Amino acid sequence: MLTESSKKSPDEDAEEQYPFREIVVDESKPQYVLQGVCGLWNYGATCYMNSALQCLVAIPELTQFFAQRRYREELNITSKKFEGQLAVAYKALLEEMEAANGAIVPDGLRNLIKKYEGRFNNNEQQDAQEFLSFFLDELHEDLNRVVKKPYIEYSESILQTHAEMGREAWENHRKREDSVVVDLAHLQVKYKRTCTTCSTESVRFESAASLTLELPEEEMFSPHISLFDCIEKHTSEELLGEDNAWFCPQCQKMQEAKLKTDLWKLPKILILHLKRFRFCGNANSKIESTVTFPLKGFKLLDNSEDETCVYDLVGVCNHVGSDVNNGHYTAMVLRDGLWYYISDIMITEMFDLPDEVSSTQAYVLIYRCRGEEDPALKRTIWI
Ligand SMILES: [Zn+2]
Repeated sequence: MLTESSKKSPDEDAEEQYPFREIVVDESKPQYVLQGVCGLWNYGATCYMNSALQCLVAIPELTQFFAQRRYREELNITSKKFEGQLAVAYKALLEEMEAANGAIVPDGLRNLIKKYEGRFNNNEQQDAQEFLSFFLDELHEDLNRVVKKPYIEYSESILQTHAEMGREAWENHRKREDSVVVDLAHLQVKYKRTCTTCSTESVRFESAASLTLELPEEEMFSPHISLFDCIEKHTSEELLGEDNAWFCPQCQKMQEAKLKTDLWKLPKILILHLKRFRFCGNANSKIESTVTFPLKGFKLLDNSEDETCVYDLVGVCNHVGSDVNNGHYTAMVLRDGLWYYISDIMITEMFDLPDEVSSTQAYVLIYRCRGEEDPALKRTIWI
């Protein structure tokens, strides 16, 4: 079903430097039943939800967590919004998808979300990344092992090393937020601000459930943006000028400062959001640059352990179209070693994917860190 075409570039050197291939999926002969993969019906414009859910299903550790019924012990029925119901509904969806002989209608989960979250209580198109982020946050709350979150005062000690500060900030984060979602997907980012007047430095660590990457602006109209460029831009030093000046504790006033961001502690499952939508008042537009990303062997340095994490792709949420309110969302997922392209109920098997692919549609990328393989994760077994 899949054909790959080499993207022609006017620049021969660039072509050599970026030997990428755009994935073209021939959906003219889609399959509706493929073993182990299940499509989801669309309610009108709910492809954003379907695509996000298919990406989550592709995270082996998370699916296994539900399949092994570990969620039962960790269900938090005191969570603010869903009181554990979202986790139960997601488990029911996974079970239904596993047993299905064709596409299913995700009624239970959808009705629950419509009831409790106003912005998704309609059949209109929404932002799949916003949905994914909302869903993971609420799933985390429903599975938070901390029932009563303690108040933790933030203290900044100049005696600590950055490694110690990072460790302390992470421990404090885990005292309030502790779930399978945190175990798998939360990461830690380090922010260092330096006053350009007196050189005073301030270091702060923050945790996040995903990473939003801006596309490098100077490259915006270039067809050759790599995921690595986006990471480099994210972690390069920037100047905080008058508009977003920083309060320097030494100068005791708002000052111009330098900000350096570093990925500090990397997660098992790395969720990367490519910021393709620009908002200006009520209007929005999409950056349709081609981004090249590796399917296998994406290397990033984990500063907290001073070691390299090697990531392989397991899911991609795609957006086809020119702005956030229109267009169509699809998913590309890895299941049991094979890639599938899923557009609601239509599933297309993808063959012979190159190690590095390019896409104008890739919107959210889900990477999984290589490590010792749990044989149970090769094939999800429901107990
Ligand atoms: Zn200063």
